[in-house]
Amino acid sequence: MRKQIVAGNWKMNTTPEEGIALVKRIMELSTSVPSDVEIVVSPPFTHLYAIASSIKNSRIKAGSQNCAAWKKGAYTGEISVDMISAAGASHVIIGHSERREYFNETSPTLLEKIKLALSSDLTPIFCCGEVLEDRDADMHFDAVKVQIEEVLCKLKSKEVQKIIIAYEPIWAIGTGRTATPEQAQEMHSFIRKIMADKFGDDVANSISILYGGSCKPTNAAEIFAKPDVDGGLIGGASLDAADFIAIAQSFPQ
Ligand code: PEP
Repeated sequence: MRKQIVAGNWKMNTTPEEGIALVKRIMELSTSVPSDVEIVVSPPFTHLYAIASSIKNSRIKAGSQNCAAWKKGAYTGEISVDMISAAGASHVIIGHSERREYFNETSPTLLEKIKLALSSDLTPIFCCGEVLEDRDADMHFDAVKVQIEEVLCKLKSKEVQKIIIAYEPIWAIGTGRTATPEQAQEMHSFIRKIMADKFGDDVANSISILYGGSCKPTNAAEIFAKPDVDGGLIGGASLDAADFIAIAQSFPQ
C-alpha cells in the first residue's frame, strides 16, 4: 500500500504568527481526516522551528520549501539540511518549478540536494513537470522523462524508495487551470513506468506520486481517485485550513 499524502506549500506567505494560527487550525480540523493520510505543511524558513514545535505531538508533519546544495559553510543566506532537520522538519520540497525558473536550479544541483536531504533523514518531495509549450507540442512526456532521468534515475534503489515525487504541470501551478484527472493519471503512470524500468516494479509501486497544480476541494476527489495519484502538493489552497483539510479528505474510501 502506498502512502496517501497531502503536502501544503505555503511559498512566501504568512508571518510566523499567521503561520502558527494556520497550522493550529489545520491540527484541529485534521481529526476528520482518516489517520492513514499523511499531512505535511511547508512554511517559510523563518517559522519552520516554531511550526515544527507546535505540531510535535500531532499527526501533522513539517517540511521546508528548499534546502542548500552544500552541507555547511560560507554560503551566506542558505539553510542546510542539518538545520532543517534540527528545526524539527521531516520533509523538504526539492526542485519546485519556481526554484528551477527563478533561481536557475538544474538537475545536478537537485541531485545534490536530494542526497544531502537523505543524509539528514529528510524525505525529499521531488517536483517535476512540463511547461505549456511542451504540452502543446506533445513533448510533455519527453520533458518529464529528462527531469526524472537526470535526477531520480541517478540514485540508488534504497535512496529512491525514500522519495516522494510530485508531478506539477507548470501551466497548472497557481493558474486556476488544473490538469484533467486523465492527464494526471497518464503522466503518473508514465513516471511510475520510468521508475519500474530502472528500479523494478516493487520499488516503483512503493513510491507515492503526488499531483500539484490548482488542486482544490472541488477537484481533488476526481484526481485522487486515479490509481497512480497518491495525493497532492497544494499551493494556494493550503493557505486556507478548511480547504486544505477538505482536500485531505478527498481520497477514495
Ligand atoms: C505548487 O506551487 O506546488 C502548487 C501546486 O500551487 P497551486 O496549488 O497554487 O497551483
